[in-house]
Amino acid sequence: MRSLLSLPLVPTFSKYLPADSSRLNESRQVEGACFSYVKPVTPSKPRLIHFSQPLLDEWKVEIDKDDFLQVMSGESKFNGFEPYAMCYGGHQFGQWAGQLGDGRAINIAELEIHDTPVALQLKGAGPTPYSRKADGKAVLRSSIREYLCSEAMHNLGIPTTRALSLVKTGDFVPRDMLYNGNVQEEQGAIVCRVAPSFIRFGNFEIFAARQDKENLQRLLDYTIKHHFKSLGTPSQETYLAFFQEVVTKTLDMIIHWQRVGFVHGVMNTDNLSILGLTIDYGPYGWLENYNPGWTPNTTDSQHRRYRFGNQPNVALWNLTQLANAIYPLIGEAEPLEDILTGFKVQFAHKNHEMMCKKLGLYAPDLVSDTVLYSLEENLRVSEIDMTLFFRELSNFCSFKWNHFKHILEFSSYLTGTELNSHMSKWKNWFKEYKKLVKQEGVDETTRLSKMKQTNPKYVLRNYMAQLAIEKGEVGDYSLIEELFTLLQNPYTDQPNQEKWYAKRPDWAKQKIGCSMLSCSS
Ligand code: AMP
Ligand code: MG
Repeated sequence: MRSLLSLPLVPTFSKYLPADSSRLNESRQVEGACFSYVKPVTPSKPRLIHFSQPLLDEWKVEIDKDDFLQVMSGESKFNGFEPYAMCYGGHQFGQWAGQLGDGRAINIAELEIHDTPVALQLKGAGPTPYSRKADGKAVLRSSIREYLCSEAMHNLGIPTTRALSLVKTGDFVPRDMLYNGNVQEEQGAIVCRVAPSFIRFGNFEIFAARQDKENLQRLLDYTIKHHFKSLGTPSQETYLAFFQEVVTKTLDMIIHWQRVGFVHGVMNTDNLSILGLTIDYGPYGWLENYNPGWTPNTTDSQHRRYRFGNQPNVALWNLTQLANAIYPLIGEAEPLEDILTGFKVQFAHKNHEMMCKKLGLYAPDLVSDTVLYSLEENLRVSEIDMTLFFRELSNFCSFKWNHFKHILEFSSYLTGTELNSHMSKWKNWFKEYKKLVKQEGVDETTRLSKMKQTNPKYVLRNYMAQLAIEKGEVGDYSLIEELFTLLQNPYTDQPNQEKWYAKRPDWAKQKIGCSMLSCSS
């Protein structure tokens, strides 16, 4: 088997796009360039906590753990590759924020595996010209969260950046976790993440904002040539086709998020991948009791811009910023507007279809919006755990009211009279549902097995990640391994892991790190 670290380098981003002419590693504005060369900091006592064997298996490569640790901690170069940080801007919480860039991410390799480009990036390996006032580091707690969730999302079939390794640096990093003046020294860590490209909407926005049309075009032509190959030679026409593809990919990603109850938490335009990958796992969370108004991000608790139910709207808003950014290369607003209008139509259609699939209904035209609205309303008021409810429904074959009532009791955070007061509404919905399933007449085994492929049994509930963090912070990495393995097969019943198929425990409801997370990481 080939060794990962001796794979040949196939640089494209750093080969075909302009580099920053300065190597000064201090916070500054970088103009006329897509990236800056930068050297990761050498950690004082690195330790390999975990790595993704499934990813190595997919690549059909092997590693020597000592050499691997040296590269994944930033101590040694990957096969001589010159590391660099990318330049981008972005709209944060609806406002243009100017230059942002990889303030704590450093690209350490560009490869090609099975004919697909693969970029490797260390998150938390030290400052870059884009660090502004921050330190370029990451802490163990947020790194465990990013590491576990990236791989979990991949296994759920959701487009995402992957995670190759999780390393503890042995250095300490000061963080004010709740932004309340209580600074603590936390353990530093580095995640190596993986994607065909880490280009974000913000990479285009920064050139548009600086009216640097030449580099805007270079970046767009590069992106089409290397990451949207099927569109052909870049031209005015392919620019529009490119935008249409980005819209479709983003929309599909959001539909997946809504399907599994994932809330990203910081959907700024610098956190939206041009490839429609879920990227930048910060204060994300998973819906437990179904509530479209929920966000895990305490930094956004006032306006809740990035709440679960608003993710589709924000995606469209962000796509509109991308349209504005590439507009100078197209010169006509109308075709871009038409594509954006298409998003709304497509979203309504695909979302309806996705919700029907969750219910095991495969003739979406027969299902009225009212049935779906009333389901969502019932789930919300009855505080039903989204994952448990849909998974239980994927085993539901009796179509007896009493059995359905058990599902509600099993998955609701309400009990007794509180829950019982909602039963008449549920009875009405249940009658409709029963009628629809009968009307479709899909063979029961087929229906239920398809539902189980849509409704995961195990997701990385917020409290599960927190338990792994609490153990990890005292040097016990067993739960990281257990959850990593559990979440390899989220759609498969794992009888010895039933404890993770349960409602959020009471202690986790208001606990920091479980229901409340800040951007501090
Ligand atoms: P985020 O919202 O976490 O994706 O980060 C927004 C911007 O802040 C990006 O440009 C990051 O690179 C940068 N950033 C976040 N945390 C740090 C840090 N500790 N050091 C340097 N830059 C950071
Ligand atoms: Mg970011």
